[in-house]
Amino acid sequence: MNTLLPTSTAGSLPKPTWLAEPETLWSPWKLDDVQLIAGKQDALRVALQEQQLAGTDIVSDGEQTRQHFVTTFIEHLNGVDFENRKTVKIRDRYDASVPVVVSEVSRQKPVFVDDAKFLRQQTKQPIKWALPGPMTMVDTLYDDHYHSREKLAWEFAKILNQEAKELEAAGVDIIQFDEPAFNVFFDEVNDWGIACLERAIEGLKCETAVHICYGYGIKANTDWKQTLGSEWRQYEEIFPKLQASKIDIISLECHNSRVPMELIELVRGKKVMVGAIDVATTAIETPDEVAATLREALKYVDADKLYPCTNCGMAPLSRETARAKLQALSAGAEIVRRELSQ
Ligand SMILES: [Zn+2]
Repeated sequence: MNTLLPTSTAGSLPKPTWLAEPETLWSPWKLDDVQLIAGKQDALRVALQEQQLAGTDIVSDGEQTRQHFVTTFIEHLNGVDFENRKTVKIRDRYDASVPVVVSEVSRQKPVFVDDAKFLRQQTKQPIKWALPGPMTMVDTLYDDHYHSREKLAWEFAKILNQEAKELEAAGVDIIQFDEPAFNVFFDEVNDWGIACLERAIEGLKCETAVHICYGYGIKANTDWKQTLGSEWRQYEEIFPKLQASKIDIISLECHNSRVPMELIELVRGKKVMVGAIDVATTAIETPDEVAATLREALKYVDADKLYPCTNCGMAPLSRETARAKLQALSAGAEIVRRELSQ
């Protein structure tokens, strides 16, 4: 990236109302068959334009072609039964009825590669593409075949690597793995979570990122945050090993969170996507608030490695709110860019 402080989003953006119910996760599609395919592509174009108008430097598809950041990927795999579901506790937090792993998992065909090619055709800007991380995938399923979270994660890592290599060939510049589960299962992260992530990026020449947040701004997550006390030190448990890993970029939740900013010092040397936009509130950050978060982060991240970003995806927000937040992010980054160039 030649731009100093290049902005991006963590991933998802709201979908148009004609494609899916707004401000809802797992919202069913309103179109079918060929109309749905065309509708998703049109929504992707709109999401791209929203980012371009807001001045976002590294653009994405806004996850317009998927219902959910984990489930949609898994739906395309063999070995998972979506009919006979079981109830599990996701991230030790809330019960959900989930699909069951019934046999060996494998990828029948590319999942997002055509979408990535389509986005590549629309823009010359750098593209970031998000995939679910292996541990977070495991955490959204009931495993009736491998009976080992680690083994299942390893199989997912191999599948993600196939997909990532094809995304790279399609022209994606940064491949991001979403691992909110990294904030919960520290021992497993250090035992095998990061190793699985490195398996998923094996052989890639493009840049790679891991997004570790405190979740979408939904009630189960905001309630959980209330129990975490005055300082959120979860990142401290896993940063030393992440610092030593082959992942290039670490995407974090910072603004309005109780994460002590100095924890970022533990990943010094990595590029850091600093969440300067809170996705759990409809209040719009001012450019000055964004700038203040970025200035604080600059104490622990070298300027050429700081990537202003959102705390998490914005799918559950209204389009107006998401648009205003994207603009605030760009304006805040511009304030700090000017300060740095003085
Ligand atoms: Zn997130």
